This record gives sequence, structure tokens and C-alpha cells, in this order.
Amino acid sequence: MGEKTKFYVDVSSLHKEVTGSCILNTVRFPDGSKKMILVDCGMFQEKDYVELNKSFPFIPSNIDHLIITHNHMDHIGRIPFLVKKGYQGKIHMTKATQVLIKPALYDGVKVFQSRYDSFNEPMLYTTDDVDSTIKLIEGHEYEKGIFLDTEERIKLTFFMNGHLPGAAIVLLQLYYPGYKKINLLFTGDYSSKNSFFDVNSLPKEICDDEPITVICESTYGDMNSSEIKEVFVNNIKEAVDAKKQIVCPVFSLGRTQEVMLKIKQMQDEGLISKSVPIYYQGPLGCKYNLLYESTENVLGLNENARNFYPANLTIVTNKQKEHSIIAKNDCKIVLCSSGMGTYGPSRTYLPAFLSKSNALIHFTGYLSEDSMGRAIYEAEPGSVCQLLGQEVKKRAQVEYTSEFSSHAKADELITFLKRFKHLKCVLINHGEESTKHEFSKRVVNEIEPKFTAVLGEYLYRIGPYGFANKSYNTKYQPVK
Ligand SMILES: [Zn+2]
Ligand SMILES: [Zn+2]
Repeated sequence: MGEKTKFYVDVSSLHKEVTGSCILNTVRFPDGSKKMILVDCGMFQEKDYVELNKSFPFIPSNIDHLIITHNHMDHIGRIPFLVKKGYQGKIHMTKATQVLIKPALYDGVKVFQSRYDSFNEPMLYTTDDVDSTIKLIEGHEYEKGIFLDTEERIKLTFFMNGHLPGAAIVLLQLYYPGYKKINLLFTGDYSSKNSFFDVNSLPKEICDDEPITVICESTYGDMNSSEIKEVFVNNIKEAVDAKKQIVCPVFSLGRTQEVMLKIKQMQDEGLISKSVPIYYQGPLGCKYNLLYESTENVLGLNENARNFYPANLTIVTNKQKEHSIIAKNDCKIVLCSSGMGTYGPSRTYLPAFLSKSNALIHFTGYLSEDSMGRAIYEAEPGSVCQLLGQEVKKRAQVEYTSEFSSHAKADELITFLKRFKHLKCVLINHGEESTKHEFSKRVVNEIEPKFTAVLGEYLYRIGPYGFANKSYNTKYQPVK
């Protein structure tokens, strides 16, 4: 086919939009050998794509290495399914992700079980498959490169990422004697900062010295950080002043602890009284809370941030307490999982509080299209919502904020990409289709790498100098 070089990697993503992260990298070495490396193995959560969860477009036993960027279901949710279907290699992640992933995967089985019980949906995997998965995990330190193979051709290094504790930017470096090496950098879900720990920036030599291809997320690729309005503190203060009952659905990992820290700061600043009761209900979140506060500090958090619990906090662990919280019309703040309202205690609290006129429901993060949260948020005030088979009139005030988001916005992603002096190629993924295209135009205009494209439908062949092969037989759509 008239290849210019025999050393390259074909990069393709299984996911077209936000969820189901799974990037397949097929490395072809000049001696004709091939290695298949997966970065992430996530669950599809968008309604249109859930069918894709049931199979892989490759043979799992043919995958040589699996690397995980961070502990979110859209990046880890199908690992036990991959193992069940024959993957036997190691699963590489940071040491903190190694600790966080266990409760997440076992909780995932519970979610399958409840969906099986309610809708007879087939279970992708069981706790036995999670047990087998855990045995394959290998945890690594940040910034310490390791070779994944005995020939020392594939080097993996994790760098810090503010998206979550344990989250990483992944650098893959591919070597072959006599050839210049190939550098591929995967941002994972990316943020440059986190309220709980300091984020080291990428070392200078990674940014300055060599040609590099970046596979970049774009969840908020159509929005600038200046567009994010900080409304949470004000909304909560006003509701407490009006003696309202407040419910905040929160994601178990990250958001729960961040919202608690925010409420604690409000108490410390005297914005709300410490006499207002705070409740938290979320079994998985409680496990993460313990890891956040643990003196062993396995997550590498800042000392002062580990004391994040607000005053007057009660952890709710039983239905009886839940019912009494709902029945009493006193001023209080209830934090509950899940963040989108689709699972867990939120399924009880949200319909109950929606019908109360002296309540505020405050969402704290992304609401997917088919979630209970989105249905509640988008319903007209006074209209009737269908929630879990009940009709509920929307009387409560309902608010939303994206200020807690742990994703970089478009301008921050551009700043990140501008650090690379020899940025040859940018492949954009993890965004809604229109967002990815919008962001790719921005990359072309503001950074001018040699080649920019949107990952999804096509695979891209990357060599030591970036985009490698225009005669390759697969369709591709470079952005002009
Ligand atoms: Zn994530
Ligand atoms: Zn993600």
C-alpha cells in the first residue's frame, strides 16, 4: 500500500459521543508484529447506545494491554465484561484508582441486579467476574514510567489529572530500534485543578522535546469557563433563609465530598447556620467518604481538605430515617445519590420533595437525557411529572449548576494543548458529536497542529511524526 513507514499505530474509538469510553490502539512494529492496547473500557450510558454494551467489535483475548484513566463508569464499567469474554492481561491504573475501583465495580453489579429484577435486562457480569477482574489489576505511581512488555517497546506513564482523585493523563511511548519513537498522550477526562489535591503539571520534556499526538476529551468543548455561573452558594443561602427543605442529588465520588466541603465553608463563613441539619444518604458515597478522610491518605489528598464534613451532619442508613426526613417539613439540606436521580436514595427523595412547595431541588452536575433529574428539571412549574410510575406535581423550586464540573472547558483545553511545542496531531473524543466538531474547528484555528480530526467513525494511523498515512484504506475525515 506504499506505506512511508512500517512503524505506526492505528487509533480508533468505540464510542461516538460521551459515554462508553474505549480507545483501541493497534501498534504495528516494523518486524511485522502487532500489539493491541485498550485505553479504558467504559459502559455506554446514552439510551441510543446501550445495546453496544452487549458485545465488543474485537476479540477480547486478542487485547494485549488494558490501561485505565480513571474511576468513572463510562471508563471502567465494562472491564469485568471484557475479562468474562476472555481478556487475561494486566489492567494498569494508578494506585489511587486501584483503591477506588473496587467499590465502584461491585456497586455496578448491584445496579445490574436491580435492572434485571425490574426490567429483566440481562446482566453483563456478576461479582465472580469482578473478583477475576480485581486479580488482574496493577496499580502504579504517577510519573514513573514502566515498560509493559519484556522487549521494552511499550512504555506507559501516568501523570496527574484534577478530574478525580486517582485520575490520570496517560502517556504511551512506542519504541523500535532504528526508528524515532511514537508519543501518544490521552487526556482522559481532564481538569487542571481539584479542590482536594494539588495537580502537578506535565513535565517540561514531555511538552517541549518531541513530536506528540494528543487524544483530547471535549465534553465541554463548546463552552468557555467564563460562561459558568457560580450560583450554588447563593441559591442555598436564599433557600435556608426562607426556611426551605433542600435536596441536592450528588455523584458518589468527588461531587459528594465537594458539595459537603462547600456547605462546610458556608457554615464557617456564617452564610448558613450550623443548626440547620444536614443529611447524607448514599451507600457507595459513604465508602468513598471513608477513603477521603482516611489517615493513610491513599488518595493523596491535601491535609486540610480531608476534613470536609459539615457540622450537624447525619449519615442516613435506613428507610425509617429516610421516611421521617421526608415527613418532617423543617428546614434542612439532604444530599443523596445518585447525582442524576436515576438510582439510589434520590429515587425516593426527588419525587417526595418535588411535590412540596417549600422545597428546593438543586442539581449539582450533568443530567443525561433519559435521567429522572432531566425530567424534573425540564418540566414546567405546576405540571405533572411521570416518575417511576407515579404522577407528581412539580411544586418545588428546581435549580441546576455546572460550576462543580470536573471537566476543563474549551478555553482551558486550548491552554492545555498549547503547552506542546511539537503538537503534530489532535484527535478529539468524549463529546457530543456537534461539540467535538465545534471544538476541532477551534483547535485548527487557535493552535494549527498539522492534523486535527474527530474520533468516532474512522481510525487514524499515527506514526513517529503524527498523522501518517493518507492512502490507508479506511475512510477518514480530516477537518480542513
Ligand atoms: Zn470522568
Ligand atoms: Zn468520561
